[in-house]
Amino acid sequence: MTRWTDFAAVKQAVSLEAVLRHYRIPGLRRHRDQLQGCCPIHGGGRDDSFRVHLTKNIFQCFACQAHGNVLDFVVAMEQCSLREAALRLQQWFGIRAPGLRWHPVAPGRQKGKLVRKEEGRNLPLPFALTGVEGNHPYLAQRGIDPATAAEFGVGFYPGPGLMSGRIVIPIRNRHGQLVAYAGRALDDRSPKYKLPAGFRKALELFNLQQAVATGARIVIVVEAILIACGSIRLDSRAGNSVA
Ligand SMILES: [Zn+2]
Repeated sequence: MTRWTDFAAVKQAVSLEAVLRHYRIPGLRRHRDQLQGCCPIHGGGRDDSFRVHLTKNIFQCFACQAHGNVLDFVVAMEQCSLREAALRLQQWFGIRAPGLRWHPVAPGRQKGKLVRKEEGRNLPLPFALTGVEGNHPYLAQRGIDPATAAEFGVGFYPGPGLMSGRIVIPIRNRHGQLVAYAGRALDDRSPKYKLPAGFRKALELFNLQQAVATGARIVIVVEAILIACGSIRLDSRAGNSVA
């Protein structure tokens, strides 16, 4: 993976409009120099809270207060660091060293390339949330004691950002690398669960890393408390196969 980056050059090279197209954000309306619609960051229902100024190349949400440039937008959507956001934009839009010149790729080709490149893996997060409270009344109410919360890293996140005010559940890949947080609402608000944009949940099996660590060859898979149950045979050479 490319490790160099230049924030100013990335901001210059990539338009917010192109980034919104990359995320396929629906329902944005154009009014002169602005785009307007539902906020893809906090997922609210108001269709005028999110505004993009096309010539200034900045965005703002009047509901969740998120605002900034293309890099800030990707940070909010991906829950990643600024550097990681710049690296992703370089990768998505084919911006190469030296000079980070803009190399447009035909839409069809770009789409195919992106899918192939990203298929099969969620990238590890370059950070972990801090200040997650495992001893929270909501968890107690759901029968999760502080020891269990600590074991799984689950807790209430009071900080800012996508997971603000939610119960966060760290999701790790089979190697134990943190790849995302799922954020559950404490009340009836929608969405009940938030996942970062671009995260492919079909690729991960929650807590698989702990099963792998025991040396077991088969894991029991349970979904939504005994609605569905099955077993998977673990094979490190050929990937996982459902039995
Ligand atoms: Zn918002």
